[in-house]
Amino acid sequence: AQLDTLDLVVLVALLVGSVAYFTKGTYWAVPKDPYASSANLNGAAKSGKTRDIVEKMDETGKNCVIFYGSQTGTAEDYASRLAKEGSQRFGLKTMVADIEDYDYENLDKFSEDKIAFFVLATYGEGEPTDNAVEFYQFLTGEDISFESGASADDSPLSSLKYVAFGLGNNTYEHYNSMVRHVDAALTKLGAQRIGTAGEGDDGAGTMEEDFLAWKEPMWAALTDAMDLQEREAVYEPVFSVDEDEMTTLEDDSVFLGELTAAHRAGQPKGPYSAHNPYIAPIAESHELFTVKDRNCLHMEIDISGSNLSYQTGDHIAIWPTNAGAEVDRFLQVFGIEDKRNVVINVKGIDVTAKVPIPAPTTYDVAVRYYMEVCAPVSRQFVSSLAAFAPDEATKNEIVRLGNDKDYFHEKITNQCYNIAQALQSITSKPFTAVPFSLLIEGLNKLQPRYYSISSSSLVQKDKISITAVVESVRLPGASHMVKGVTTNYLLALKQKQNGDPSPDPHGLTYSITGPRNKYDGIHVPVHVRHSNFKLPSDPTKPIIMVGPGTGVAPFRGFIQERAALAAKGEKVGTTLLFFGCRKSDEDFIYQDEFKKYQEQMGDSLKIITAFSREGAEKVYVQHRLKENAPLVSELLKQKANFYVCGDAANMAREVNLVLGHIIAEQRGMPAERGEEMVKHMRSSGSYQEDVW
Ligand code: FAD
Repeated sequence: AQLDTLDLVVLVALLVGSVAYFTKGTYWAVPKDPYASSANLNGAAKSGKTRDIVEKMDETGKNCVIFYGSQTGTAEDYASRLAKEGSQRFGLKTMVADIEDYDYENLDKFSEDKIAFFVLATYGEGEPTDNAVEFYQFLTGEDISFESGASADDSPLSSLKYVAFGLGNNTYEHYNSMVRHVDAALTKLGAQRIGTAGEGDDGAGTMEEDFLAWKEPMWAALTDAMDLQEREAVYEPVFSVDEDEMTTLEDDSVFLGELTAAHRAGQPKGPYSAHNPYIAPIAESHELFTVKDRNCLHMEIDISGSNLSYQTGDHIAIWPTNAGAEVDRFLQVFGIEDKRNVVINVKGIDVTAKVPIPAPTTYDVAVRYYMEVCAPVSRQFVSSLAAFAPDEATKNEIVRLGNDKDYFHEKITNQCYNIAQALQSITSKPFTAVPFSLLIEGLNKLQPRYYSISSSSLVQKDKISITAVVESVRLPGASHMVKGVTTNYLLALKQKQNGDPSPDPHGLTYSITGPRNKYDGIHVPVHVRHSNFKLPSDPTKPIIMVGPGTGVAPFRGFIQERAALAAKGEKVGTTLLFFGCRKSDEDFIYQDEFKKYQEQMGDSLKIITAFSREGAEKVYVQHRLKENAPLVSELLKQKANFYVCGDAANMAREVNLVLGHIIAEQRGMPAERGEEMVKHMRSSGSYQEDVW
């Protein structure tokens, strides 16, 4: 077929914009019948496949592996996008690999005509993501040695060519430390980096643009290094999506939102984990304050009988369901509303492609339970839809949006549109030509959200409390409210549990009873993530906690624990909480409970409050911290642990600064010494953050 100029532009936009998952479905990645086995469906290695990446690439004819270290799915998404672009634009034989699925001792056998990408997120306090811990420890370990017997001094990785991109957040102290450390370690071992080591910054909100800006020079360098030829590309689906007219959604084989095959069969069994969530009953739920348009939830999640356990300070992950209104919008925009209940089979076309959606399933279920359809949209993804626009004018507009960063920001990003809203803002015609595989490739898997557990495991080992503020925000300039996926779902569950006749908050409807009614009686899928945010093992040690708003969540657990110890007659150290909110009679959560703990703990519990909307001046926790400098300093001298929880962007950063000032001022040191002391406290574990 002839290509006109516009088509070429569209194709270029498309190939630049090709967005895909090769392996998003690591949870479901097992060959042949991926859903036949039950619990741990994570990754090739666990299903008995090789852990030898060199062998794997030879076997499957690949010359490019894209490893990802991902916690929330973004790094995994970028890895998939790079794989797709590498294959369509440069003819690389790409595969995406979860970094924990392979061994590293034979990276010295990686051949020179191949390339390894490392797409690595940094998590928390400069830590590797859960799936990259072993890799990181291996690479940065003291006595590193390879299968061939080579040691660090022999430049063992001299044949390894690699590309590196990191995902970080500059509001954290150890910004992008994973990619920086891995890059340094690989270079030290003799490996050759191609292009620069890219760094995306979530803190500045520029992750996507950082990624786009980094990858073009990287591809140019890689083209030189590997002698690649850039070529025109058309959309090549990674997955086949076939409608199955013979099977109905009543069929036992069809996934109706279940997260594993065992769940589908109605026989989930432990151990429960990030790959096998537990469908937990919500024992009790209520709101912590009632103010117009603001909701804050307290929920008790019953884990008795699940074999799940937690420790005070851990996190719980909640697996959400998308709101009905957004599911409907998505299906309408892509013209699949009428066939929402048609059963579809989704299969990987390439052998290394892993299907991110458990199948067979239906369009409706895929969108409701498995796809992140409400998230902000990327310019790359929108531009990949140009070739499938319903008419020329729409196509032109999409091409413009794809090519013009500022225009895209004005029209889409600043409006806070999700993908369906974005397309609705361009045209009212449905995008019926978009292949469903492109949507599966281009959108993330629906991710669980984490919550700091707000109870003490000592006091209630079988019930996990969560404290969550319902996200309902109008961002400046946007024309509509953004409704958080998980928190609005939890609000609906709470309303249903409390007999609200219309349990759908803000006009959002939910499939409250879940797949095959398995969530009826108010259940929600969860798993527990252990964290390092911990009380000192010695309860007599003083602690200072700074937790405004829902940042108080883990501290409610800490205080609950110390109050219980005090009630048993044990001695507990000074327990100082800085809490902040808008008004004392509006959103001071757990106020009554704290009074009760005060009775049990007497003088050892001190709560210092900051109300930002009560006086003429706005007062925040960091101001109170400063005012109480002598007390804070005295407690630090007594070896107090210092904890911060809540808003990462502003509060945590300021608290860090203020503490440095306090130390310097109170001990008569120069300001830099104060900062150093805080750094030292961080590295020794006496300054701990749980921020988001
Ligand atoms: P999401 O749908 O994930 O949206 C979140 C935000 O993203 C929105 O408010 C909006 O700002 C933005 N957004 C979403 N969609 C769009 C769009 N289309 N366009 C533009 N912007 C958009 N929260 C608590 O309340 N309590 C806790 O104790 C707590 N602990 C946490 C502990 C950890 C370790 C972490 C990582 C997070 C914690 N959080 C906690 C935050 C929590 O995980 C969720 O991020 C939060 O509840 C919002 O989830 P959601 O699904 O409702 O919102």
